[in-house]
Amino acid sequence: MSLDILAIAAHPDDVEQTCGGTLIRMAEAGYRTGILDLTAGDMGTRGTPDERIAESEAAAKHMMLGWRGNLRMPDARLENNIAARMTLAVKIRELKPRVVILPYWEGRHPDHYRACEMGYEACFLAGLKKLDEYSEPHRPFKILYSGLYTNIKPSFVVDVTAQFDRRMAALMSYTSQYGAAGNEGAGLFPKEEEIRERLAAIARFYGNLIGVRYGEPFIVKEAMEIADIVAMPVRSI
Ligand SMILES: [Zn+2]
Repeated sequence: MSLDILAIAAHPDDVEQTCGGTLIRMAEAGYRTGILDLTAGDMGTRGTPDERIAESEAAAKHMMLGWRGNLRMPDARLENNIAARMTLAVKIRELKPRVVILPYWEGRHPDHYRACEMGYEACFLAGLKKLDEYSEPHRPFKILYSGLYTNIKPSFVVDVTAQFDRRMAALMSYTSQYGAAGNEGAGLFPKEEEIRERLAAIARFYGNLIGVRYGEPFIVKEAMEIADIVAMPVRSI
């Protein structure tokens, strides 16, 4: 298995809310995309881990993923320890992504920034020849951070206007989370209309930064190289 892009996230349905549109756009362009969820959301009020995983597989179809996996690590108490990093590093060696997308390194939920830290360290470990004797070393070339949860200035924004509805359909596959009221925890969870409005507002905000309808923001730690300054997109203000 060799992926072009692997998004690593703490919970099923995280990627659907952060960079799902970009993954769809890249799949449409012919790239092999994948998502590795670290937990199955076992601390969630609604639904069982098995339901969440089944829903995430339905969402994967909407997002045209080439691969999706779940490490079933403990939800809401994700720990960055050597066992977890090794598991993740071996998975990265198997999947050989050129690009890895991680959650942004700050956030309200500890699982999100911990997933970022674990993913970052695992990308390094995965490149070590002597990590284990069963898998080939592989270090992803590029690490991007997806920052939809936090109010940060992105390094760049991907136009996902054409992918927004498909991303929404993927998110709505999590019927245990966003299903009709009447279930356990109803009232605690926003309705589909409200979710759509909130995600559309966020995507509209980032889209506006590059002059399109809907966008998804990314952060990179390195400088960006531009070969042709005449062809640079996004009109200056
Ligand atoms: Zn999450």
